[in-house]
Amino acid sequence: MLGCVIHGQGDLRVDELPAPSPGPGQALVAVRYGGVCGSDLHYWRHGGVGDFRLREPMVLGHEVVGTVVSYGDGASASGPVPGTAVAVHPATPCGLCPECVDGRPNVCRDTRYLGSAARMPHVQGGFAAQVVVPAGQLRALPAGLDLKRAALAEPLSVALHAVRRAGAVAGRHVLVTGAGPIGCLVVAAAKAAGAARVTVTDLLPRALSYAASAGADAVVRADDPADPSWPAEVDVAIEASGVAAGLDTCLRLVRRGGVVVQLGMLPPGQSPFAGNLVVSREIELRGAFRFDGEFDDAIALLAVEPGFDALVSAVVPLGEAESAFALAADRSRSCKVLLDFGA
Ligand code: ZN
Repeated sequence: MLGCVIHGQGDLRVDELPAPSPGPGQALVAVRYGGVCGSDLHYWRHGGVGDFRLREPMVLGHEVVGTVVSYGDGASASGPVPGTAVAVHPATPCGLCPECVDGRPNVCRDTRYLGSAARMPHVQGGFAAQVVVPAGQLRALPAGLDLKRAALAEPLSVALHAVRRAGAVAGRHVLVTGAGPIGCLVVAAAKAAGAARVTVTDLLPRALSYAASAGADAVVRADDPADPSWPAEVDVAIEASGVAAGLDTCLRLVRRGGVVVQLGMLPPGQSPFAGNLVVSREIELRGAFRFDGEFDDAIALLAVEPGFDALVSAVVPLGEAESAFALAADRSRSCKVLLDFGA
């Protein structure tokens, strides 16, 4: 079978891989679509994401949907019947560490996450014609949710988690810095949570137009201080650009005592930020990393909201993986790009 493998910085290949077979407790899934994530792009362009560095070839991909093929011993009872369309929850937390015991498995200190170089050996991802995962990680898609829109389940879960980390947003003005796919999904998640107003900043008009289609009430050119849509103050700010300037914008615009959630993965190492604003305005600065139960909430939301289709800007066959990555990396031309493993 074919898979999309990152061998090092700038070295993305479509390789012939051994066909996997499910072991005890595992399921075999025929992958149909895989969403190209910012972290996949980071592995491709920089050889790592955040503080995780690539140290061996790795199948990329953690935004994966497809169809159940078969189960290993004892696994069929815990997953939907073969032939069922499913989304794959990409995380397998250890269940034993203090964070898991405390009910925060998304920050598990020994988790396995599809297509991640956080641990060695790396956890191979789902950008392949077939993937084996623990059967308990499959989620059957409800009626009305097709595989293409369902491919947004993982990034929407990330967005829902970030909004949950912000606390109460109902009736409040939320700022989102960064209108990439995650930023756009944060807009949708904030509106779904009852935000009264969502303002989004980005450098690119095309990205801001995607944010508007996701439900943003106002969009702002981040490089234009005279843009009349800049808010004087917001209640909550969610940083989804992964650059220090975005965090600076959030800290300067959130009201005193407000909440700033850092969702975007910042460059490796240390980042400068306006720490004195955190002190003098008693801003609550919180991180948001991946998700847990939000995966089921994301699937339920996608099933009833066809508007999400507008965020899938291209579907590219696996054989053209490198051009798919180039397209996904060019936010002046794309929002969420899917690889098609079933063509
Ligand atoms: Zn754990």
